[in-house]
Amino acid sequence: VEGTQDLVQALRDCGFRVTPQRAVILQTVAAFSGHITAQEVYEAAQKRLPGLNLATVYRTLESLQQAGLIDLFLPGTSQARFSLRDPDHPHCHLVCTGCRQEYELPASWAQRLSAEVRAQLGFEIDASHLTLTGLCRKCAGSDQSRSG
Ligand SMILES: [Zn+2]
Ligand SMILES: [Zn+2]
Repeated sequence: VEGTQDLVQALRDCGFRVTPQRAVILQTVAAFSGHITAQEVYEAAQKRLPGLNLATVYRTLESLQQAGLIDLFLPGTSQARFSLRDPDHPHCHLVCTGCRQEYELPASWAQRLSAEVRAQLGFEIDASHLTLTGLCRKCAGSDQSRSG
């Protein structure tokens, strides 16, 4: 987890005025190793900022995500979650639509797809934090309607 000063500096570098809400919300996401829902951010951040409301948490998370400080994970099967963007460990997500199992992949795997699509279509996929859905080995294997 990054230090508080680093996070405050990161806010400034992204052009944010550093308010207690922004600092505490970013610190809350950073302190959680993994992906955290807005509700969980709210519950933890509220202990340090008693006047905080959930709408402010949502709005702040959205602006932090747009600035690239945090990543949004939309599993499709459950609530949106947020994580601190770590440039040293870029990753993508796989979500099984059968059993909701989640996997993390190195971003380099998605970058291969991204390079192929760019070469063929000139389309620039944002491969930094992709979420792909499908069926895990177990769920794909138990689907009797499929052959092979
Ligand atoms: Zn993620
Ligand atoms: Zn599955």
